[in-house]
Amino acid sequence: MCIDTLIQQLCCTHWLDQAQWAALLRGAGAQEAKHLAQAAQAEAVARFGKKIYVRGLIEFTNYCRNDCYYCGIRRSNAKAQRYRLTPEDIFACCAEGYDLGFRTFVLQGGEDAGFSDDLLCRTVETIKKRWSDCALTLSVGERNRGVYQSFFDAGADRYLLRHETANEAHYHRLHPAALSLARRKECLWTLKEIGFQVGAGFMVGAPGQTAETLAEDLIFLQQLQPHMVGIGPFLPHKDTPFAQEAAGSTEQTLLLLSCVRLMLPQVLLPATTALGTAAADGRERGILAGANVVMPNLSPLSVRKKYMLYDNKICTGDESAQCRSCLQHRLSSIDYEWAVERGDSPLLGTPRTSASTVPAQSG
Ligand code: SAH
Repeated sequence: MCIDTLIQQLCCTHWLDQAQWAALLRGAGAQEAKHLAQAAQAEAVARFGKKIYVRGLIEFTNYCRNDCYYCGIRRSNAKAQRYRLTPEDIFACCAEGYDLGFRTFVLQGGEDAGFSDDLLCRTVETIKKRWSDCALTLSVGERNRGVYQSFFDAGADRYLLRHETANEAHYHRLHPAALSLARRKECLWTLKEIGFQVGAGFMVGAPGQTAETLAEDLIFLQQLQPHMVGIGPFLPHKDTPFAQEAAGSTEQTLLLLSCVRLMLPQVLLPATTALGTAAADGRERGILAGANVVMPNLSPLSVRKKYMLYDNKICTGDESAQCRSCLQHRLSSIDYEWAVERGDSPLLGTPRTSASTVPAQSG
């Protein structure tokens, strides 16, 4: 397959089949990546202008019942110092974030039974009441439909749940037997049915990943049609079974960002913290390769070093205000600006506000 023809097809039709994706990913060199990045950036600018949506990430618990081999807060990591914020701590982060210009808060954490679903619902309700012009995203892993529905009814707008890999054998290379790809995918479909803006995604360069498994990831995203896609490089954590594995590359992550932007032109696509950790200018390069979202940390300084999913994570020593001005400089250095708005998916009609009633379920 001629690589230029594949690129042309992707740019014109926003669609490749699995074999074509694998061929593109195997064959793309620096020149092709540059070409794809230019096309992807143009798609993003056509839809979102030079405005970058900003999400304030509040990492509210690092307790986790799961044991994912790649993750620094996995259950078996006895060296992780565990913490759990209180709702009041979380509200303080929101208050600070709101003043700094954040209009989306993301509550992310491990799967922590100690922060009950009920408490999370009440926390969501309070945030949506106090900061009614803000969107709220949850990223707390796998739950059953009833719980997801209660999060939605409490006012949560969006849900991030990376599928991690769409290949069955690869999923088992990354996770213990208790976790299954089928369940992960089912959660994503359920979240979509309930009415959340949904984000899936994966790490680039995870152990065992190949052009073929990546092609399966892209096909899965094509089927799911998520509102958001989270992609960052795999980075090893010293106290995990993957401590000695090689990190994913910045270049390949940028290539995948461009591919996703061209496949799903309207998608909300963050230039992730992991990308900023892999390269000092990783997030800026991510934006120039088609990303349109950044997710700076709003967690209290006292806990930041404890939410270590991978080694050397950036911004763990900075106050939120420092992160804000640092990021603003980075954006203006590439001629982009921080958008003080919720930044909902363009795929949505009029977004739900806290005053409106819950819309009828779709799908
Ligand atoms: N418990 C939640 C949140 C997980 S942390 C959930 O299950 O969705 C968010 C993401 O960080 C994960 O989905 C994973 O893709 C990423 N991550 C975890 N460990 C990582 C590592 N070592 N390198 C890069 N990204 C990692």
